[in-house]
Amino acid sequence: MAAMFKGSKTGSAEHVDCVCDECATSIRLGARLGDTDKEINNLPSVLRNLQKRGWSNIKSVLRCPQCEAKRKAPKDPTTPLGDVLSSWDAEDKQQEPEMTTQVELRQPTKEQKREILAMLDIAYDAAAQRYKGSDTDQSVAEALGSNILWGWVSALREEFYGPDGNEDADLLLKSVAEWQDKADKAYADAAAKLEEARVFLTEMDAAKAEVAKLAAAVAKLTKNGKRT
Ligand SMILES: [Zn+2]
Repeated sequence: MAAMFKGSKTGSAEHVDCVCDECATSIRLGARLGDTDKEINNLPSVLRNLQKRGWSNIKSVLRCPQCEAKRKAPKDPTTPLGDVLSSWDAEDKQQEPEMTTQVELRQPTKEQKREILAMLDIAYDAAAQRYKGSDTDQSVAEALGSNILWGWVSALREEFYGPDGNEDADLLLKSVAEWQDKADKAYADAAAKLEEARVFLTEMDAAKAEVAKLAAAVAKLTKNGKRT
């Protein structure tokens, strides 16, 4: 759309109405017209005047200050939330390869693997399928130094030796089982003694009753004897 300038005369005063190509807002400025109203002799100075007032004339499109501000705004501030979120998603996807390299787990070197296996050979009882004494994956890793992760020890132990666990834990379990056994036996013994005592008390009650009966019979006999 070509910029629109419309000349007019009011008495001896000559004007030009400059119309915004975007919103049709217009501004009236002083002008020098030619023979007809369409001829504006001082267009360059009219344009400079417009420019001072914030108007623009780019590629023959005339814009008022409001429309020029809209054109210049780098982004539409009223971008829908969905668009904002999907732009974030796009950024996330771009960062993904970098993220995976950061998260990737540290792996042992061949030398570190050999060190771990040598230590496992000492600490692990292959026949019993457990660590000797109180050793664990963690204690083996600690013994080898801070660069060794116990997860590596765990993986190599599973692959080349056997399951987790150690002698101390086994002994502890064994002694727990032994104590449980002892407690069970003691309980059974006590229960048997209690039963014996109950039987004894019942017998005693019966004996007492018998004694009382005999005493009563004796007393009767004595009375009778006195009577006779
Ligand atoms: Zn406008």
